[in-house]
Amino acid sequence: MTPAELLQQLIRFDTTNPPGNEEGSVEFVRGLLAEAGIDTEVYAKVPGRPNLVARLEGGDKAPLLLQGHVDVVTTSGQDWARPPFGGELVDGYVWGRGAVDMKGPVAMLVSAFLRAKREGTALPGDVILAVLADEEAGGDVGARFLAEEHAHLFEGVRYALSEFGGFSLELAGQRFYPIQVAEKQICWLKATVRGPGGHGAMVNRGGTMARLAKFLRDLDGHPLPVHVTPVARAFVEGIAAALPRPKRSVFLSLLNPRFTDRVLRRLGRHGRLLEPMLRNTVNATIVRAGEKINVVPSVVELELDARALPGFKPDDVIGEIRDVVGDDAEIELVRHDPGPPEPNLALYDMLGGVLRELDPDAIPVPLLQPGVTDARFFAPLGIQTYGFVPLRLPADFRFLELVHAADERVPASALDFGTDAIFSAIQRF
Ligand SMILES: [Zn+2]
Repeated sequence: MTPAELLQQLIRFDTTNPPGNEEGSVEFVRGLLAEAGIDTEVYAKVPGRPNLVARLEGGDKAPLLLQGHVDVVTTSGQDWARPPFGGELVDGYVWGRGAVDMKGPVAMLVSAFLRAKREGTALPGDVILAVLADEEAGGDVGARFLAEEHAHLFEGVRYALSEFGGFSLELAGQRFYPIQVAEKQICWLKATVRGPGGHGAMVNRGGTMARLAKFLRDLDGHPLPVHVTPVARAFVEGIAAALPRPKRSVFLSLLNPRFTDRVLRRLGRHGRLLEPMLRNTVNATIVRAGEKINVVPSVVELELDARALPGFKPDDVIGEIRDVVGDDAEIELVRHDPGPPEPNLALYDMLGGVLRELDPDAIPVPLLQPGVTDARFFAPLGIQTYGFVPLRLPADFRFLELVHAADERVPASALDFGTDAIFSAIQRF
C-alpha cells in the first residue's frame, strides 16, 4: 500500500474531534502492523478512543519516537469542492480532512515504519511508533494521557519526529523547509472588571462595560514588546541568507526591535505569519457579562488566549499586558502548558541533511511554531520533538492556508517524498 493509499483509507474514518471516534482508524493501522508481523499495544483512557504504540528493535542508541494524531478538526460550515471524508485521489492530490493535519503525515510515519520492518533495516536504536487520539481537543485522552500515565513506554527516548514542519515553502524563488524545533506556550488568562452595576434605566457612565471596552481597545492598539528568541533568530537569519541583497538586509532588520513592526507591515501576509514568533501574543476570545437586559453587570469576565515565547513565564506575559491595559482589571492565570526554555538541536543538522539529499535546493530553517502540538506533553519526559514530516510541495501551493480549512489536500508525490525522508532519518538518529 502506498502512503497515498494509506492516507485515503485514513481520511474515510470520520475522526472529527469532538467526539474523536479514533477507534476505527487506529484499528486499521493496527491491522497493517499486525500483517507485517509487528506487535502493537493499545491504551485508552476512555472507550472508543485508543492510542496505539508499537516498537521496532534497533541498536544501543536512545530510542526514537515517531508520533502522530489521527483525530481531525471539524468541517462544519466549510464549503468543500470534494467530500471531506471521501479520501478521493484526483489529479495526483489526495483530498480530505486530515490530508495535511495530520493523517497524511501519519501515513508517512506508518509507511516508513513498515518499510523498516519489511526490509529489516538496521536502526541505530529502537523506533517507537505512537498513533494518538485527541490532539485537536487538548490531548487529555491522547498524548497527555500516555505521557503522564504510561511514561514507561517512552523510557530513554530523547527525540521524536512529528508535526509540524518539513513542508516546503517558496519565498523569493527559494525553497525553504521549516523544521519545528520549538513551540510557544499556552498561557490562558482571565481578566475580571468589577464595578458597582446598577439599574438599566439610570445613567451608568464609566461602568464595567465601558471599562471592558477600554481594556479591549488598549489590547488591540498596543502589541506586546518584541523579543528575539534564539529559534526566531535562526529562522530569520536562515531565510535572510538565501535572499538577494536589498531584501536580505530588510528581512534581517526584523531582528532589531526598533524596526520589527515596520518590516512586519511591509511583509504583509508573510508578516502576519512571522509576527507571533517575535512576541508574546494575547487575544480576547470569550466575554461573560450580564444576565438581564435591565441590569448593568457588576462583573465582566474576559478570557484571553495568551501565548508565551519559549523562556517566558506567565507572570512575564501578565506584566506585559498590564503595561498596556493598566491595572483596572484583575488578571489571573487559567492554564499554562510550559515548554522547555531552549530546544535541543542535536538532530537538527541530520534532518536538514536528509532534506538536502532528497531536494538539492532545500534550505532547512528551524521553526518556532506559534501554536501547540502534542510535543508539549512529551517535553516533560525530556523528549525533544522535531516537526519533521516533510512534504515537497508545488511553489504555488498554499499549504498553511489549508490547515483546518476547506479543500484540505496533499500531492501524493509529496507523501512519497516525506516517507523517504522519514525512512532516511530513522536510519541515522
Ligand atoms: Zn495536527
